[in-house]
Amino acid sequence: MNQIGFTPVPNRISRLVEIAYNLWWTWHPEAQELFRRIDARLWEDVYHNPVLFLREVRQSALDKAANDSEFIREYHNVLTLFDEYHVFEHTWFKQTFPNRLDRPIAYFSAEFGLHECLPIYSGGLGVLSGDHTKEASDLGLPFVGVGFLYPQGYFKQTITPSGEQEASYVKVRFAEVPATPAFAPDGKEVVVSVDLPARYNLPDRKVYAKVYKIQVGLATLYLMDTDIHPNAPEDRELSARLYGGDQEMRLAQEMVLGIGGVRALRALGIEPAVYHMNEGHSAFLVLERARELVAAGFSFAEAQDIIRGTTVFTTHTPVPAGHDAFPFSMIDRYFPTMHDELKISREAFLELARQDQSWGPTFSMTVLALRMSGRHNGVSKLHGAVSRKMWGWLWPDKPEDEVPITHVTNGIHTESWLSPRLKALFDEFLGKQWTLRIDDPALWEGIEYIPDEDLWEIMNDMRADLVHFVRMRTRQRLARLGHAPHDLQATESLLDPNVLTIGFARRFATYKRATLLFHDVERLKRIIHGDGIRRVQFIFAGKAHPRDEPGKAFIREVYQRSFEPGLAGHIIFVEDYDINVARQMVAGADVWLNTPRRPLEASGTSGQKAGLNGTLNLSILDGWWAEGFNGKNGWAIGDASAEYDSEEAQNHADAMSLYDLLENQVVPTFYQRDEKGIPRQWMKMVKECIRTIAPQFSMTRMVKDYTVRLYMPCLEE
Ligand SMILES: *Cc1c(COP(=O)(O)O)cnc(C)c1O
Repeated sequence: MNQIGFTPVPNRISRLVEIAYNLWWTWHPEAQELFRRIDARLWEDVYHNPVLFLREVRQSALDKAANDSEFIREYHNVLTLFDEYHVFEHTWFKQTFPNRLDRPIAYFSAEFGLHECLPIYSGGLGVLSGDHTKEASDLGLPFVGVGFLYPQGYFKQTITPSGEQEASYVKVRFAEVPATPAFAPDGKEVVVSVDLPARYNLPDRKVYAKVYKIQVGLATLYLMDTDIHPNAPEDRELSARLYGGDQEMRLAQEMVLGIGGVRALRALGIEPAVYHMNEGHSAFLVLERARELVAAGFSFAEAQDIIRGTTVFTTHTPVPAGHDAFPFSMIDRYFPTMHDELKISREAFLELARQDQSWGPTFSMTVLALRMSGRHNGVSKLHGAVSRKMWGWLWPDKPEDEVPITHVTNGIHTESWLSPRLKALFDEFLGKQWTLRIDDPALWEGIEYIPDEDLWEIMNDMRADLVHFVRMRTRQRLARLGHAPHDLQATESLLDPNVLTIGFARRFATYKRATLLFHDVERLKRIIHGDGIRRVQFIFAGKAHPRDEPGKAFIREVYQRSFEPGLAGHIIFVEDYDINVARQMVAGADVWLNTPRRPLEASGTSGQKAGLNGTLNLSILDGWWAEGFNGKNGWAIGDASAEYDSEEAQNHADAMSLYDLLENQVVPTFYQRDEKGIPRQWMKMVKECIRTIAPQFSMTRMVKDYTVRLYMPCLEE
């Protein structure tokens, strides 16, 4: 561990360092509580980053904790949990497949969303990878992840007073995050290289990537960084940012991810049994593996068979522009000798990934991944069907419903997304060991035993926490913008902790239609103000990709609306959506609003996080909600069977349905209270929502599905 620059940790609590460097703490609130107890203010200031915390904490605070018997007791409780957790023998995988496998599943992803202190994710794809890794650890899968440790990560968002999104990049110092250099079996730090062709003033060259390690419970991530000597400045930038740069930069990045990633595993002495490509970004890994096999004496056809038998590919988007594709001329320059190394013709090589677009033939990462993997899937039932339609041309002799793309519906890592307040209630009513049975629907029948009074009290507390959080964030923003003290003071009365609160937070991609709510502003105002008592308030958050002008225009509209007479004070936009903001919002809101243009939401997962916390979904029947909705656990906006002549017609119909639901169902149900002030019908829906959503859309269910249906069959071939 890199303890240079740490405040010396007293011996009695020295294992705090070990805890800090194992992201196990991200889903164990008890572990986070240790740091908070030492210095609560600092814990907030370092944005819940224990490594930075241990560098900045005062010696006196550590000494005080080391001499506080109550702290020591808690510290030992946490260590006991930690040590018990790290025994492979007790895990689901070891018990289910006792004779199986020391060789791991290697999971490649361009982003990993593990915690707010590691900004190496942009949205749902990254959060899914992070949750997958945590669950692989919980279940005891032999599992390594491969990706990038972007020094500048994804951007921090601020909103100007006129509503413009501004992006800033903060350099992450790796000594200040829970990452350490990775070492090869011979004790050397791992550095890999990939050949790149001439560009700008640079000659043909090798670009080098240093490999870092992040421990996530029993699972390990190996993340690459090109910001090292002796790379040229342009190459150092390669891994600087997530989805930055132009198309050539993107291609080079994907070469480092796929090819460099395989080389990193080799250098580490890791020989995976299965390779899982999470989205097409990493698809070049199949070329590196084919090159190795051909060099070892196999024909290309034999290599292809071996690779297909051991490769899983998950596609994530029905939006065509979401699939990377490069012109052949670029591929010729970046892979001048690949076809020779594979002992095939240039044409056969290009054909492997060929997708004809209106502007000419391209080398598509999705086509490459589909052709070179034996098992492939979409991320919800509906998305599976959409993918079969979208990619059916690759299997011209098969009817659409026999195209071999299956689906595994996404899920969420329960313990990462469950409010600690609710967790305490679940511990009481579901039994202490409930976290070992998360995917068992029978377990969740226990929700019925929670008295409405107890659950309602917790829900009120969670809403109050969210209102408090939004006030604090708003105050910080106004202070940054130089507002007067009375403006800062006024944030104390922003929003009402007793009012029906609706959350909308996600990437501001236009298909998600963040502005649909404002389709008929006068009607919205009537809903918001109700009869003066039955009021509604909305909290928005989300980032648009810095080059997505229409997405940024949506942010501007939502932001400006939030100052309009009749809406001001009842709609608020929170800056810099990230895992922390998401965690607060999915727990504290009463209703989770999602209005994608069907069928463009492949799955969506924020609604699953909401559902776990008893926040009722009010959503279009798209992605996971088309499977999750049962008529009693939330609401479905729009008519899933309708066909529309235009996007305007679809918007209009969906908006009308949304207003009708708010007026006739959501608001009346929330405010209908009995003599004790409890909304009985609402609580019935909340319980139905948790009971049905928590097991089915858990990461436990999802990773077991991947293991049993996709990973294990690879081993049996
Ligand atoms: C869960 C999550 C997402 C994905 O949610 P969607 O429903 O797909 O929008 C995106 N960003 C963050 C920060 C999240 O926590």
